[in-house]
Amino acid sequence: EPKSILFIGLGAMGEPMAANLSKGGAQLSVYDLSEDRRAEVAENLGAVAVPDPVVAAAEQDAVVLMLPSSAVVESLLLEQGLLESLKPGSLVIDMSSSHPDSTRKLAEIAAAQGIRFIDAPVSGGRAKAITGELAIMAGGQDNDFAAALPVLKLLGSKIFHAGGHGAGHAMKALNNLLSATGLAAAAEVMAAGAKYGLRPETMLDILNNSTGSNQATQVKFAKFILSRAFNSGFAMDLMVKDLGIAAEILPENHGEPSIVRSTVQLWQEARRELDDRMLDHTAVTKWIEHNAG
Ligand code: NAD
Repeated sequence: EPKSILFIGLGAMGEPMAANLSKGGAQLSVYDLSEDRRAEVAENLGAVAVPDPVVAAAEQDAVVLMLPSSAVVESLLLEQGLLESLKPGSLVIDMSSSHPDSTRKLAEIAAAQGIRFIDAPVSGGRAKAITGELAIMAGGQDNDFAAALPVLKLLGSKIFHAGGHGAGHAMKALNNLLSATGLAAAAEVMAAGAKYGLRPETMLDILNNSTGSNQATQVKFAKFILSRAFNSGFAMDLMVKDLGIAAEILPENHGEPSIVRSTVQLWQEARRELDDRMLDHTAVTKWIEHNAG
């Protein structure tokens, strides 16, 4: 069981996750690219803020990553040399929503250096990160999963060993593909109803007691969209990144109609047209409403 943990990436998800590791008794060091961020989180949690994650990694039993993308993960682990700095037998847990092919490559490089690697992306958003009730879908070897389990249990309440290296990251991209499809479909249906004079509150009430109900109608519309606050805490950029991964792992479909492929196109277009780096993913609704006129 890892005692000393370096947590890297203290954003919307990483900050509450690090807090739960700290509460669970881990000997915690934290790093974020933003100096203010790591100082603030370290102070709030009574953790050590490290100025250089590569140097700090040499002292750790485990390193947990909650970073934006595989590009960032690879840059840190390979180009900056974090993997090489780790001591043999230590464990890397990549909880970011990364690309499964990158993960397989990293796990192989890590193994050659005697470093254990698992992918363990999460679902449930900031709300479940705060309560420690994330769903966690892990990929990697049985013994490494078992070694990571005490850490994962501090962060999530539904923990799955999905398969080998990359299985967690593939599963996460596919989950978000389905989730993005459900949200876009709900937004189109809601916009169509508005044209027919149906009030959004009325529509949601009926849908949520009918077979059309999904997570978007039950949670996202009710909490973040009807209020026009668009503040779920999951960025449009990150969702579009996940859909890009999903698009790459979908099987060839020989040009036949495909609902999930249209999902990817719709979201990429919404991202381009709305063109706001700070945008929450629920704001895809604005683009769909715009198109409905
Ligand atoms: P975020 O943008 O809020 O946080 C990312 C953090 O990483 C930032 O604090 C940033 O400063 C830091 N960072 C960026 N580059 C870095 C580097 N090179 N070294 C150290 N720190 C660096 O993102 P988030 O919402 O916390 O998401 C993190 C990951 O979790 C993403 O892969 C995302 O797709 C995934 N995810 C997010 C949610 C959600 O609801 N927000 C849910 C599930 C999964």
